[in-house]
Amino acid sequence: MPELSIGPEILQALQNTALAIIGYFAIIWLCIGIWTFNDIRQRTRNWFARILATLFVLGTGLAGVVIYMLLRPKETLRVNFERELEEEALLQDLEERQACPVCKRRVHEDYLLCPHCETHLKLQCRGCSRPIVPTWKACPYCTTPVPTVQQQTIGRPAAPVAATAAGDFLEQP
Ligand SMILES: [Zn+2]
Ligand SMILES: [Zn+2]
Repeated sequence: MPELSIGPEILQALQNTALAIIGYFAIIWLCIGIWTFNDIRQRTRNWFARILATLFVLGTGLAGVVIYMLLRPKETLRVNFERELEEEALLQDLEERQACPVCKRRVHEDYLLCPHCETHLKLQCRGCSRPIVPTWKACPYCTTPVPTVQQQTIGRPAAPVAATAAGDFLEQP
């Protein structure tokens, strides 16, 4: 049986190959760590979560990346922010485009009367003349108390006022 002899050149070559492979994996490992940190930074503002996720991936390697990608927050902060803005705009749009409770047609939120079916929608504040909702207790703009439902004149004809005026007129000598 011939003796297996490894020359110093072969040993050197093997060592170099091993170093190259280690270097290669070290670079990949570093890149994975940097990628994870950048990725988690866009998904959470919590520094503890950022460091934990990066250390976890660095400690577990490629398997950790897969687990991280499954567990990370689904939305980035930017997408989350944009979605919140959109929802807010939509909500505001809906508020502005209220519908008349009677004819269901669109009315603006500061309409006192539905222009289509003449349903009274809101009261006019006695203090600042802004439109207010009859169920409110006070005007949010000028703090004038809102009259109770019995005192409100919504839907009532203006006849009693005219009669009083007429009575006053008749009483005059
Ligand atoms: Zn209407
Ligand atoms: Zn007011």
